[in-house]
Amino acid sequence: MQRVRLLVFNAALGPLDYRVPEGMAVEPGSIVVAPLGPRQVLGIVWEPERLPSADVPESKLRALFEVLPVPPFSMALRRLIEWTADYYCAPLAAVARMALGSMAALKGGGTTTEYRLTGHEPARLTPQRAAAMDALHGEQATIRELAERASVSEGVLRGMVGAGLLEPVTVDLDRPYPKARPDHAKPDLEPDQQAAADTFAEAVRSGGFQPFLLDGVTGSGKTECYFEGVSAALASGRQVLVLLPEIALTENFLRRFEARFGVPPVLWHSSLKSSERRRAWRAIVSGDAQVVVGARSALFMPFARLGLIVVDEAHEVSFKQDDGVRYNARDVAVIRARFEGIPVILASATPALESMQLAEAGIYRKIELAARFGGAELPAIEIVDLRTSIPERQRWLSPRLVSELKDRLLKGEQSLLFLNRRGYAPLTLCRSCGHRFQCPHCTAWLVEHRLSRRLACHHCGHEVPLPDKCPECAAPDCMVACGPGVERIADEVAERFPEARVALVTSDTMNAPGKIAEFVEAVENGMVDVIVGTQLVTKGYHFPELTLVGVIDADLGLEGGDLRAGERTYQQIAQVAGRAGRGEKPGEVLIQTRHPEAPVIAALASGDRDSFYEAETQCRRDAGAPPFGRWAAIIVSSEDEAEAREAARAIGGTRPNLPDVMILGPAPAPMALLRGRHRYRLLINARRTAELQKVIRQWLGDLRFPSGVRVGIDIDPYSFI
Ligand SMILES: [Zn+2]
Ligand SMILES: [Zn+2]
Repeated sequence: MQRVRLLVFNAALGPLDYRVPEGMAVEPGSIVVAPLGPRQVLGIVWEPERLPSADVPESKLRALFEVLPVPPFSMALRRLIEWTADYYCAPLAAVARMALGSMAALKGGGTTTEYRLTGHEPARLTPQRAAAMDALHGEQATIRELAERASVSEGVLRGMVGAGLLEPVTVDLDRPYPKARPDHAKPDLEPDQQAAADTFAEAVRSGGFQPFLLDGVTGSGKTECYFEGVSAALASGRQVLVLLPEIALTENFLRRFEARFGVPPVLWHSSLKSSERRRAWRAIVSGDAQVVVGARSALFMPFARLGLIVVDEAHEVSFKQDDGVRYNARDVAVIRARFEGIPVILASATPALESMQLAEAGIYRKIELAARFGGAELPAIEIVDLRTSIPERQRWLSPRLVSELKDRLLKGEQSLLFLNRRGYAPLTLCRSCGHRFQCPHCTAWLVEHRLSRRLACHHCGHEVPLPDKCPECAAPDCMVACGPGVERIADEVAERFPEARVALVTSDTMNAPGKIAEFVEAVENGMVDVIVGTQLVTKGYHFPELTLVGVIDADLGLEGGDLRAGERTYQQIAQVAGRAGRGEKPGEVLIQTRHPEAPVIAALASGDRDSFYEAETQCRRDAGAPPFGRWAAIIVSSEDEAEAREAARAIGGTRPNLPDVMILGPAPAPMALLRGRHRYRLLINARRTAELQKVIRQWLGDLRFPSGVRVGIDIDPYSFI
C-alpha cells in the first residue's frame, strides 16, 4: 500500500496522511482532492520527512479521491513555500495558497461561452441598451463581466442576446497566447548599456543562481538592458517573470514590451477577470506563458521553466505585503532564483539601502548605468526655502515656483507638480467650535474629497457626504479645510492660470486601466499643460516636453520619524525629479521645503547620492537597524480594547530574556484603532546572529488567546503604524 502525506489548504489543520488507491499515480507536488470528515479538502502531496505529523495506523487511512489534471508543483517551488513560511513565521498552507492563484484553473481545460456585439445596430434602442452598446465596443466576456463593465443588469444583456444585438462565442479556455519574438525589434544600445545587456543575456544562457543589482539613474535605459536578458530567455524557451510594484503603472511598460517583442506579455494581478486568471495560470504551469508581468502575487506562480526573474523599481515599499503572509516580494524573488538556479535582476534608480549593502558585500553583482539614454541631461535641482519664498495665505505654491510655472506656460512646455497626498485637504474642522472630523473606525482624520463631495478615511474606506452643518455645534457652512491635497493644488493652478489645461493624477481619478492610457496619450499629444499628481506620477513615464517638476512639500515624508523616512523621501523625490528633461530640452526641478539643511534635502540639492547613502548607512549601523541588525514586530489586535490590551500584556509578560535580542513594548500602536480593531505593538530588535524566528516561535508558541484576538508577526517590517 502506498501512503502519502498532504499539506492541506486549511491553515487550521496540520499535515494529514492518506492511502493512494490502486491505479492512481501521485508524486511529491501533485495536487489532489481527499476526504475530510464528510467534506472534501484540497492538498499537495509533500515529502513526509519534511512535514512531521502524528503517526496514524495504516488501517485508519482513507483513500485519496482524485489527482487534479495539472502538473505537480516543482521541488524548487515546494522549497520556496517552505522557506517563506519558515522565514515569515506564516502557516505553510497560507503560503502554498498563493501558488494556486485560480481554483477554477485546477479543473482542467475546456470551453466557456463569452458574448460580443454582433454589429447589428437598430434605429431605436432603450437608453440602457444604447449605453450598453456604447460601453461594449470591442469587448468580449461573460454576461456577468460585460454587465459589470457596462453598468447594466445581466437581464438587459440577456434581452440583447434575444434581440440579436449580442452573440455567443465559444472560447477555448486554454487558447495559446501570441508568441513573443526575441529579435522583433533589436534596440540600438550605447556601449555601457550593451555591456550590461550582454551580461544579462549571458547569465540567462549559462543558467545558475546569479543576483544582479541594476543601478541606473532615471532615464538611463534599464528596461532596454534587461529586455536583452528576456530576449535570451525567449530564445532558449525559458519563461520570465517581471515584477512591477503597482499594476496601475504598467501601461508604459506594456507599450515598450510590445514594441520590443511584437506582442504584449501575459499579465497577472488581482483584478484580472476570472476567465483571464484561469487562462494565465494554466499557461504559466504549462510553460506556454513566455513572459509574465505581475504585481507581487505573481511571485509564487508555478512556472514550468523559469529562466529569469526581474524586479523593476525594486526599492518600492509596495513589494512588502502588510497583511496575511507579510512577505517582501523583492527578497523572496532572490530566494526563488536561488532555488530555481537562475539569474535575478533587481532594477532601480534609487536602490534600497539593504540592496546596496548586499552589493557592497559582493553578494549581489552591481551593474551601473550612469548616463541618460540618448544624451539627455539630468535636470538641474533648486531648493526653494519656504521660509523666504513664502506662499500667500491658503496657497501652497511659492512665488519662485509660480514664476517658473508661468515661464513654462508661455513657452508651451509641460510642468508636473508633485504632492503625495490624495484628496482636497487632509483635515477638516469646524470654524466655530473646533470639531475635527475623525474616522469612527481608525485613529485618523477624514480627508476631504471635493471632487466626490465626501469625507473619506484612507485606512478603512469609511466615507460620509460633506455635511452642511457641524455635527457638534450645528453651525451651518462652518467647515474649514486645513492643508493641501492634490485636488487643492490643482484648484490653485486653475485659479492662477485659468487658461492652463490641468490633469489631476491620483488613484481617485485614475481608477480604471483605460484612464491611465488616456492620460498618457493626452500628455504626449500636448493636450496637458500642468500635471498635478501623487506618487502615481513618479515613475515610469517618459514625457519629452516635460521640463519643470515642482515638489510641493518635501518635508511631508520626513514626518513620523520612522528610520526609513529619509531614504524613502530621497527615493520618491529623485524618482519624480527624473521625469523632467527626458527629451532634448533640459529639465529643472524645484523642491519646496522648510528644512533645506536636512541631510536628505541637501543630498538631493547637491546630487551627491553616495554621501547620502553613506550617512544613512552610518545611521542604521548606529541604531542596529537593518541591514546591520534585524527587526520584527508583533501586532496584537481585537475589536475589544480590553481584550487586545490583556493579550499584549500576556505576550509582554512572557518575553524571553536574551543577550542579543531587545524587546520594546507592548505599547498602543500609533494607529491605535484601525478598521474597528484596537491595536498594540511590540518591536523586536535583534543582532544579526540571533535566531529571530525561532525565538518568536518559542515565545508565542505556548500562549493561548481568546478567539477575537489576532496576533500578527511581521519579520523585517516596513510599516510601523
Ligand atoms: Zn462646530
Ligand atoms: Zn477609517
